[in-house]
Amino acid sequence: MKRPALAAVLLSAIALAQTHTVPKQARTAPRPAAARVAPEPAGLTPEMRIVAGHITANSLRAHVSFLASDLLEGRDTPSRGLDIAAEYIASHFRRLGLEPVGDDDFFQTVVLRPDEPDSPKSRNVAGILHGSDPALKDTYVMLSAHYDHIGLAQSGDDRINNGANDDASGTASVLEVANALASLHPRPRRSVLFILFCGEEKGLRGSRYYALHPLVPLAKTIAHLNLEQLGRTDAPEGPQISTANITGFDYSDVPRMFVDAGRRVGVTVSKIDKASDVYFNRSDNGPLARLGVPAHTMSVTYEFPDYHAVGDEWQKIDYDNMAKVDTAVGIGMLRMAQTLTAPKWSEANPAAKPYADAGKKLTEP
Ligand SMILES: [Zn+2]
Repeated sequence: MKRPALAAVLLSAIALAQTHTVPKQARTAPRPAAARVAPEPAGLTPEMRIVAGHITANSLRAHVSFLASDLLEGRDTPSRGLDIAAEYIASHFRRLGLEPVGDDDFFQTVVLRPDEPDSPKSRNVAGILHGSDPALKDTYVMLSAHYDHIGLAQSGDDRINNGANDDASGTASVLEVANALASLHPRPRRSVLFILFCGEEKGLRGSRYYALHPLVPLAKTIAHLNLEQLGRTDAPEGPQISTANITGFDYSDVPRMFVDAGRRVGVTVSKIDKASDVYFNRSDNGPLARLGVPAHTMSVTYEFPDYHAVGDEWQKIDYDNMAKVDTAVGIGMLRMAQTLTAPKWSEANPAAKPYADAGKKLTEP
């Protein structure tokens, strides 16, 4: 049997790690019990180790290389390539035993232009990992990315905008974190909604539709993290290794949960001054934040050489770094799914005030 052996290895590894972290002073002169309580454990709990063990560079490479393959023709919204991507995502949700929550299995039909009688349609893909705590399982934390891209270029030898970093990388990360959290027994206390949005490149169509037609109550959705461009590390300002940033960094308690998660696995999660406020409303977290859900977007780099160009290919992604960043994402999501206290907007910050006000409106009886 694998599990007891693994558990034994983990326990001895943790015991070993703990022996190494006991301060010298504590070993020689025991202090009063209260003083010995660590404010925040720096290492990984056994369940965090299980999450970390289920996120691998090879698995991420497999997902991105398929989603960004020429076969899918740049995943325009709507298109046959995007439909193939949606089926791929749904098949992985099925494998993990997530619950389908769309109007059609794992698919939420999205009306792309609600003002038009014969509007084209596309699909968001959504699945839920049910929580294990009777009192908290009807509350949700949400992880998302957009699985669409910009389709074909007008001309050129290579016309396919593959969208590997933007945002097959985020999509693959959602699949990999879903795989990691679904492997926990017992499951996290709160339920986790995994959702891939269509139509981001057409003006946040999928997430705007979701905000108006949520699949679980927004008032019960305690936090949302959206993932954008987690794969490329070759930013104009230099290599971005073991770092990530979050928009609206000072707007709610959510970012610092990922700062803490990153610290545990050697990833620095920080604020980029020029992006934190400016990009807050430009990604798929925006429609939810405007309705009051503490919602943010994480990214490794906003600018990279092949942005919205045919050169955004899967071979150019740093999968080892991506696995490391995704481990921080997985641990942060786990902590949010386990926490008894829901994250709050930072009301004192004037920039966050409109979102905090919307949040109050959302949750008041
Ligand atoms: Zn994007």
